[in-house]
Amino acid sequence: AKPRHSDLLDDLNPAQREAVTHAGSPLLVVAGAGSGKTRVLTRRIAYLLAERDVHPGQIMAITFTNKAAAEMRERVSDLVGRRANAMWVSTFHSMCVRILRREAKTLEMSSSFSIYDSDDTKRLITLVARDLDIDPKRYAARTLAVHISNLKNELIDPETAVADAGNDLERRVAEVYVEYQRRLNQANAFDFDDLIMRTVELLQTFPDVAEYYRRRFRHVLVDEYQDTNHAQYTLVRELVGTEANEAGIEPAELCVVGDADQSIYAFRGATIRNIEEFERDFPSARTVLLEQNYRSTQTILNAANAVIARNPNRRAKRLWTDSGDGEKIVGYVADNEHDEAAFVAGEIDALADKGEADYSDVAVFYRTNNQSRVFEEIFIRLGLPYKVVGGVRFYERREVRDMLAYLRVLANPEDTVSLRRVLNVPKRGIGDRAEAVIATYAERERISFAQALRGAVNGEIPLLNPRSAKAITGFVELLDELGEVVESGAEVADVLEAVLERTGYRAELEESDDPQDASRVENLTELVTVAREFTEFTAEVAGPDGELPEADPGVPEPGSLPAFLERVSLVADADSIPAADGGDDGDGHDAGVVTLMTVHTAKGLEYPVVFGTGWEDGIFPHMRALGDPTELAEERRLAYVAITRARKRLYVSRSMVRSAWGQPQMNPASRFLDELPAELVDWRRLAPSSSSGGFGSSGGSPRAATTWGSRGGGSSSSSRSTSTSPFGKGWKDTVALKLDVGDRVSHDKYGLGTVVACDGAGPRATATIDFGAAGKVRLMLIGSVPMVKL
Ligand code: ATP
Ligand code: MG
Repeated sequence: AKPRHSDLLDDLNPAQREAVTHAGSPLLVVAGAGSGKTRVLTRRIAYLLAERDVHPGQIMAITFTNKAAAEMRERVSDLVGRRANAMWVSTFHSMCVRILRREAKTLEMSSSFSIYDSDDTKRLITLVARDLDIDPKRYAARTLAVHISNLKNELIDPETAVADAGNDLERRVAEVYVEYQRRLNQANAFDFDDLIMRTVELLQTFPDVAEYYRRRFRHVLVDEYQDTNHAQYTLVRELVGTEANEAGIEPAELCVVGDADQSIYAFRGATIRNIEEFERDFPSARTVLLEQNYRSTQTILNAANAVIARNPNRRAKRLWTDSGDGEKIVGYVADNEHDEAAFVAGEIDALADKGEADYSDVAVFYRTNNQSRVFEEIFIRLGLPYKVVGGVRFYERREVRDMLAYLRVLANPEDTVSLRRVLNVPKRGIGDRAEAVIATYAERERISFAQALRGAVNGEIPLLNPRSAKAITGFVELLDELGEVVESGAEVADVLEAVLERTGYRAELEESDDPQDASRVENLTELVTVAREFTEFTAEVAGPDGELPEADPGVPEPGSLPAFLERVSLVADADSIPAADGGDDGDGHDAGVVTLMTVHTAKGLEYPVVFGTGWEDGIFPHMRALGDPTELAEERRLAYVAITRARKRLYVSRSMVRSAWGQPQMNPASRFLDELPAELVDWRRLAPSSSSGGFGSSGGSPRAATTWGSRGGGSSSSSRSTSTSPFGKGWKDTVALKLDVGDRVSHDKYGLGTVVACDGAGPRATATIDFGAAGKVRLMLIGSVPMVKL
């Protein structure tokens, strides 16, 4: 049934209602966290459909994460059913991929293009820099990549970069940029920044293309507008237009929502200028302010207001709520990061026991991804269900990347970076020299690397020795064979299986004695599972009759290899949350598990219980912000984001000592803790007493004393341990670890490892453990072992 007008507006306040119903001129909604901006956006879409007779196909909504996109689509499906599929709801990147697939030919690319992520980008830039004889010590590939990315975010093309270069660095960057871009084209690939920049180029250079989209999308809505960069802003402008074009098509209706205090992507070129200048960019614009917060308690809001108020040059705004003060913020000072994690785990357990929160109500935030490990270890040990959001790590693993590179070559033979990655993986006798000969040949003949490989097969490359030529022939045949598997219409998972099998990749890992290789096999199994689920998910979308929603040339065929690769590429985008991670309930929270994530990832989300961890100067705010007011302001906005995710309870914690690179380090309290009004915080535990075995207490050897302070089993630490450990499951009193060959362990100093040998018994028991990069170490298993079995 069509929702009635009143249903859509009833539970909105007057300002929200105005934003939902406003028609005609461009609309900006600016407001603090939790004031219903996203709700307004979603509701506006519903209103357009229900009350203004807009067809879903005329709507384009842009969100910052795939997860938000999925949520928005879901809510709209609830309203209009499967018609919602005709609407475009996506991130900027996904939206551009869709346009570029459809229009690739116009840019002289093929629609099977690859998407290079930051790792591929770095590889290609390394190759380019080497070929241009650029000294990697003076200009690291990473630095060049950052500069090129910045240029792209500013929509500066290679030629302009060359013309504008004013110093040595800029000239070098420009030189690399030109060649890098040429090779991307040749490889039929776009990098992440290209997705935006080239779409803008497309719309600006080809008026008929722009007109097609202008006719099609009559409503463009953008969430988190404060995090758009110049390229994205221009893209929005090109899409909607600012005045009627020659064909007499009026600009599309634009609605953007955002909060300057939550701008946390300056490192990607995001600029709050886009919010501040909205009325200048779109002269007839209307601005709506929202002030009432519906998410958090007054205590949490006061904390957020107090922290963000320290930032200079901001427009003051005060958030208020009528939901009452609620609980105080709980503070905790831990001895070390393990103690901190134990505290968090203990609190979660206690809240669950008392029935005050489900696991799915809880989120644990940290500043950087590597901080998740300690939490994971303790959660695993206690059997506390959790999920780390990020999705990046898995796809960054070598074996996963190798397999994806094979798939990419199969989908797009011109993908040089992927092709060169797997050329000799597993080893098949195509050495560096042979690779260099082929690359040079390709360069000279102005053909792609793939074409040069075929040349080698036909004996066209005189410098190649016969043995290499033979190996290359074998490789090309292998790819052809695998190509046939793809052609036969096999499921992605089966293609993957074929690659694992026929390349000998899996066999090589299985035969290896390196324990790391065993976990690589597991990861590959996981990748096959991901691919299977992908196909199943697609089948689900198609419905029982196998009918698919509206075929669209911008979208690769559902379930196909390109569709899979596209999904994986966009998931791997550093801060996006996987969209279709099954098991999500309507709130977007995984049923029954605690969510762990970085603050960046948490943007736009909300949880009844939030743990803000690692509030230490040097961690949060991040080290590189300490001496830099601009960066510090950005970190403070991040703190504001963290605090305002909490609905009912907020915890903040810090650790006196934290290991960095295997060395314990003293960290002072985060300045953001001092900025929380004292009366709002109930400090559950302040700095530990000097007898607690903390930093430097035993004979001048801080390392020995602190590595495992709280778990050492020494009497001095026991009172604290028990008082902060409500679960009392005895894990802190580890006397001896029973280990077997093959067990996985996590050592406080050496990190993750695998047991490769066990010797002796009882008090003389030792284990030899392979810690990968940290080497093999033989350890006693009795006493206070700073290590846990996973
Ligand atoms: P952020 O800045 O963090 O992205 P936001 O401004 O987008 O926040 P929403 O996520 O849209 O805020 O809303 C915050 C919470 O308040 C949500 O749970 C939402 O359902 C609720 N909410 C918003 N407006 C109202 C309202 N008028 N009545 C009741 N609840 C509301
Ligand atoms: Mg929002």
